[in-house]
Amino acid sequence: MRTSHFLVATLKETPADAEIISHRLMLRAGLIRKLSSGLYTWLPLGLKVLRKVETVVREEMNRAGAQEISMPMIQPAELWQESGRWEQYGPELLRIRDRHDRDFCLGPTHEEVVTDLVRNEISSYRHLPLNLYQIQTKVRDEIRPRFGVMRSREFLMKDAYSFHATADSLRETYNVMHAAYTAIFERLGLSFRAVLADTGSIGGSTSHEFHVLADSGEDSIAFSDGSDYAANVEMASAMPASTPRPAPSGTLEEIATPGVKTIADLCQQLGISPSATVKTLLVEGSEDGSLVALVLRGDHELNTIKAEKLEGVASPLVMADEDTVKALCGAGFGSLGPRNLGVKVIADHAAAHLADFSCGANRDGHHVINVNWERDLPLPEIADLREVVAGDPSPDGNGRLQIKRGIEVGHIFQLGTKYSEAMNAGVLDENGRQVTLHMGCYGIGVSRIVAAAIEQNHDEQGIVWPTAMAPFTLAIVPLNMHKSEAVARSAEALYQRCVDAGMEVLLDDRNERPGIKFADMELMGIPHRIVIGDRALADGELEYKGRRDTDAVRVPEGDAMAFLH
Ligand code: ATP
Ligand code: MG
Ligand code: MG
Ligand code: MG
Repeated sequence: MRTSHFLVATLKETPADAEIISHRLMLRAGLIRKLSSGLYTWLPLGLKVLRKVETVVREEMNRAGAQEISMPMIQPAELWQESGRWEQYGPELLRIRDRHDRDFCLGPTHEEVVTDLVRNEISSYRHLPLNLYQIQTKVRDEIRPRFGVMRSREFLMKDAYSFHATADSLRETYNVMHAAYTAIFERLGLSFRAVLADTGSIGGSTSHEFHVLADSGEDSIAFSDGSDYAANVEMASAMPASTPRPAPSGTLEEIATPGVKTIADLCQQLGISPSATVKTLLVEGSEDGSLVALVLRGDHELNTIKAEKLEGVASPLVMADEDTVKALCGAGFGSLGPRNLGVKVIADHAAAHLADFSCGANRDGHHVINVNWERDLPLPEIADLREVVAGDPSPDGNGRLQIKRGIEVGHIFQLGTKYSEAMNAGVLDENGRQVTLHMGCYGIGVSRIVAAAIEQNHDEQGIVWPTAMAPFTLAIVPLNMHKSEAVARSAEALYQRCVDAGMEVLLDDRNERPGIKFADMELMGIPHRIVIGDRALADGELEYKGRRDTDAVRVPEGDAMAFLH
């Protein structure tokens, strides 16, 4: 490719409304342009990078045994009514109506469509397991689109859905997908973590998120530096926290419910039966360190209490300070103030059964702590609480806790029978009995990865692409090409040899000053650069510089190709 035929859309000025570095650099390097809030055009350079990511994802999905399909982006409302999500999904679902007054939505995800496909196509266990995926534009009417393509309203997602006759088969494919995701992010050259994710809103099943580590990340993840332990929770969707809390009135003593000294007392207040078991304990604290919510999730009864009863009974807790919380919970609740974003609370003697815990902030800016146990624990067993902070040993006994920011680039989920049950999707098993399908879903934010990679790989000059994502491998920058015949001849010859060798090379044949050419090639993040000028050429040499190198080195003209390999 020659820059004279390529849309080099670099900008000198830093765009004013771009808050994070990847957004600024994607605009400045000419990868994207904004059409409207959360809607972006991918320019040639950006699209090249996007396609690279797509290719890696596609290759690894195929290798893992998944099959590519393409489903419509426009989905009929009837399917979403069947699953119950037409009501549940809320305003993020962009709904449209056709000329016959029928309701549709623009797909934010495709569980309903693919379940409908499979229930019509597959009738026997013999055709299972089946893993279908697509790489397609998704639409979500995000409440706050921001950071460019990081959180946009239209974005490219790889979404896969697997179907199984048994839960064991689902687990097997889930593990294969976990490994495939690891391979994808390793190939892309990203520093990432797979973390346990919250399953609260769906319940029971296993879920992992893949996070690219970056300070600008919207999530907090906790992991051990000495083991595989890692966890996160997306609180915003799981929390009842956006419900406005009653305004404080009266003194603490007046507000705190009399007689509530232990979890057992609390349960009595909440009307939870003493035999209730708890799977998850969710604690939410406000900026000033006061507790604003305590949510117990477990059996059916508890979930009901979370939704309907806690709201009322929690109001005495709303103004409770640390001491009151300690009193309420029996012992040792830590402060939940802003300095302690990394605070974790786990039950001392319940720690042996700890599956994961994590912390974060919800959309209201409240700090949130989520504790999960591998089995439902009877309430008395979790009554003793203590605080764990960054730097402490991990919960699994290996290494020390680290807490970092992450960008969610992938999410895998054992859905179980949630959709297949609602949509009546089953097969005949080997005994000829009708069984409900088990299902998994696996998403990757293809376009978000481009931004996340830049958050991790940039310097003062611009983007520094990991090899697998680079739009071009090599930039050839001839100096004075339009005046010097020797330079033009040498540049054209090298360009031709690179093209013949199958390299993706950009020849900067613009009649621009060297400074401008260098700055553009660096901003665009091209990993290798060869400068061809009269002075070095007189010695039969070219100048090579890697994108991360500080100095150029001279290379004999004849050795250039070998040097590049
Ligand atoms: P988030 O927590 O960031 O809102 P999500 O949990 O809603 O993401 P999923 O439903 O898990 O997203 O979708 C799979 C992947 O799609 C995510 O892991 C993320 O990488 C990507 N993704 C989700 N929403 C967006 C968006 N608005 N813009 C770009 N990528 C997105
Ligand atoms: Mg979301
Ligand atoms: Mg999420
Ligand atoms: Mg997710």
